[in-house]
This record gives sequence, C-alpha cells and structure tokens, in this order.
Amino acid sequence: MKYIDIHSHLNFDIYQDDLDVVLGNMRESEVGSILVGVDPKSSKRAVEISSENDDMYSVVGIHPIYVDEMNGEFDREYFQSLVDEEKVIGVGEIGLDFFRLPKEGVEKYKSDQVRVFREQVEFAKDNNLPIMIHCREAYRETIDILREYDDLRVDFHFFAGDRDILEEILALGYYVSFTGVITFTKDYDDLILNTPKDRLMSETDCPYVTPVPYRGQRNEPAYVVEVVKRIGEIKGKDMSEQLLQNARTFWGI
Ligand SMILES: [Zn+2]
Repeated sequence: MKYIDIHSHLNFDIYQDDLDVVLGNMRESEVGSILVGVDPKSSKRAVEISSENDDMYSVVGIHPIYVDEMNGEFDREYFQSLVDEEKVIGVGEIGLDFFRLPKEGVEKYKSDQVRVFREQVEFAKDNNLPIMIHCREAYRETIDILREYDDLRVDFHFFAGDRDILEEILALGYYVSFTGVITFTKDYDDLILNTPKDRLMSETDCPYVTPVPYRGQRNEPAYVVEVVKRIGEIKGKDMSEQLLQNARTFWGI
C-alpha cells in the first residue's frame, strides 16, 4: 500500500456488480482504504469487505442523516458485535448534519441527532477507538459536544469549515481529511496550507465527489492518488508517504 483512501463507501450497492474491478484498480494503484458505514446494514457490509481483503479496514456507525430512519436509536449491542470483529478500527461516520431539515419537528430531529451522536462518541471512547466525524452546517454544535470528552481521537472527514473552526479543531489535537473536491476548486487550498502536514489525511468519499480528471464518472478509492497529488501541489512537496503515515498513526494500522 502506497496510498490510502481513509473514507470510501465500497460497501454501498452501487459497487455490487463490479466490486472486483474496483478492488483490482486499487491493487494496481497500491491503494488501501477504510470503508465507512452509515447505518447498521452498510456497517456490516463494510466489515465483510474489509475482512476479506488486504489493506482494507472499516469503521462502523450511524450517519446523522440516518438517525431519523433508525427511529433515533443506536443499537449498541449490534455495533459492539461489529467492532469486536477484526479490522474494524473506528466508529463513523457519526456527527451532526443540519443541512437539510424536515419541514416539521425540527427540534426533535436535531435533538435525536445530538443524542445518538453522544451515544456513539461514548461507545467509541469505551472501545478505545478513533472517531470519523461527518459534519455539515453544525461545526459549532459538534465541537462543543466533542469538547465534553477528554482524550478522543477525532478526524473531521470532508472538512469544509472555516479557518477559525480549523484552528479550534487543530488545537484540540484532532485531524482533518480532504476529498477530490480539492482538485476542482481552490476553496480548500488555504485550509490545507494552514494544516500541519502531520494532521492531514486523504480520502475520496466515493461514490461521491469524483476528482479531476475523472469528473462525470463514479468515484472509486484508486482515484485518491489524484487527491494526494493535489495536496502535494498545495504543500509544495510530495505528500504520499506522509499521508499514509498519518493514517497509520491516527487509525493505528
Ligand atoms: Zn461518507
């Protein structure tokens, strides 16, 4: 493994028919990945795929926008059985997402997300596992909850906050990771420039946000090479070894 995509969804049905091809592309490009669950079913599938393949790991959890679908319930026993499996290295993606709110019952929608997020942070802490954060339109609320706990290991996936939020996250000792979005907009350059090189990680968030030059196609972990290249351009030096080392240190792999 020369590169790592710390956030992929190869566990989604969209890869069902040609997963072998996608895995072959990864081997050819020497890319490993962390597969990310968003609900009980996709978490289980992430664990299955990672247990069957080298250089693959998984994180499990309930994504904030699925909390509603789960009737606001985090089935701790079920997720405990998953994290007890080999190659499950963290809890995620978890957090708060207030981007799209329901027309009615906004307060309950938000408070359910907050409660399930807290339950999962505590679950991660009890299992001594790092956390993969998904956060949208809720950086302030998310950080305030994380601050309640000591000694958390936290990565903000697809970081899209501002400079102040970045400084706060870094001061807490947390990491940030960036997707292929950085290959087609310069909006993230300043954030990457201002993140110490040992606090950054690379990801695709595939099947979403396909990097240049593959725009218009379904994204896949092998394309993380383009993300790593772009981080290197912004930092003014080859970052491939550093980014792999950061992921190894952070996730304990
Ligand atoms: Zn994701």
